Amino acid sequence: PKVLLTGGSGFIATHILQLLLNRGHEVVTTVRTEEKAKIIRDAYPGAKLTVAIVPDIAQPNAFDEVVQTPGLEYVQHTASPFHFKWKDAKTEVLDPAIKGTTSILEAVKKYAPTVKRVIVTSSFAAILDASELENASRTWSEADWNPNTYEDGITGHPGVTYRVSKTLAEKAAWDFKENEKPNFDVATINPPFVFGPVVHNLSSLADINTSNGNLVGLIVGKWKSEIPATGVHLFVDVRDVAKAHVEAMERPEAGGNRYLVAAGRFTNKDFVPIVRKNFPQLADKLPEDSVPGGDYPGGSIDNVYKFDNSKATKELGLDWISLEQSVVDTVGSLLSVGAK
Ligand code: NDP
Repeated sequence: PKVLLTGGSGFIATHILQLLLNRGHEVVTTVRTEEKAKIIRDAYPGAKLTVAIVPDIAQPNAFDEVVQTPGLEYVQHTASPFHFKWKDAKTEVLDPAIKGTTSILEAVKKYAPTVKRVIVTSSFAAILDASELENASRTWSEADWNPNTYEDGITGHPGVTYRVSKTLAEKAAWDFKENEKPNFDVATINPPFVFGPVVHNLSSLADINTSNGNLVGLIVGKWKSEIPATGVHLFVDVRDVAKAHVEAMERPEAGGNRYLVAAGRFTNKDFVPIVRKNFPQLADKLPEDSVPGGDYPGGSIDNVYKFDNSKATKELGLDWISLEQSVVDTVGSLLSVGAK
């Protein structure tokens, strides 16, 4: 089948692209610039791959041209801003996330009648209620929705803006399906903090994607006097996230579902012994055991929420890469990019 993958230069999308090609799918992917297109083309010589340029997903009709690629059967929509280098919440975060999602669904409905399913990369941010992260009696699952409003996204701190962007983008997708009744169905993948190896699109550690950014801080020595707060204590490896996207596409029964793809709980503090054991050459960059910060509230995992990943485990056949494996492979890839 032929698949359209948006945001092909992104950390998660790079893994989805690799897996789609490995499984024999033909891929059309979008990136913002010709420079990024060239990096992807050069990485896959001879592959069944076309790279198209969509400079800004927030622009009206951004996807109208690319969805007219003949014979598309599936769309994987991953492009959405996940960084904190913006000044204006509406135009730089909320619009690309929400309008970008609506715009691809409209374009597919209008121009791509062969598409059977659109898989949207949502987030645990669309599930969690930030006021209840320390409520040990809560168990988060696909049944839950972040209660934050658009207004919170405009007035809140940057983390709130991001979470609202993901929540309302996902809602827009489900609303579109319900109200517009297109021929395709929708599935969403909702990952928490994603770690994992960075493949071939990173020219400098300064360009690290947001979720792996913490690990860069650790291995370049920034945590020696204090370990940063963890925030959301839930992670998943990028290879499981990519697998979830592709399984949700290949399994007919996955249509109409959202999937919480979470492997386990963690704290930033957990990274330190893993890196110490596996990368002795980084020993002098790491915080001593006495260094404060980065722990569970009150020092115990029993003080935070729980999660239920049984739906994705069962319906998408995931078996979850461990935190240790994920961290070892992430740090290994960062060292090869140039963290010394
Ligand atoms: P990246 O920043 O690596 O990827 C984001 C991608 O979206 C990039 O290709 C980026 O292009 C593209 N993009 C952002 N804004 C625009 C825009 N206005 N127009 C066109 N393209 C745009 O991050 P991730 O790979 O981590 O994120 C991918 C998806 O996964 C996002 O939807 C994110 O919300 C979601 N997600 C990520 C999690 C994580 O922990 N990493 C957790 C949960 C969800 P460019 O780089 O050229 O700007």
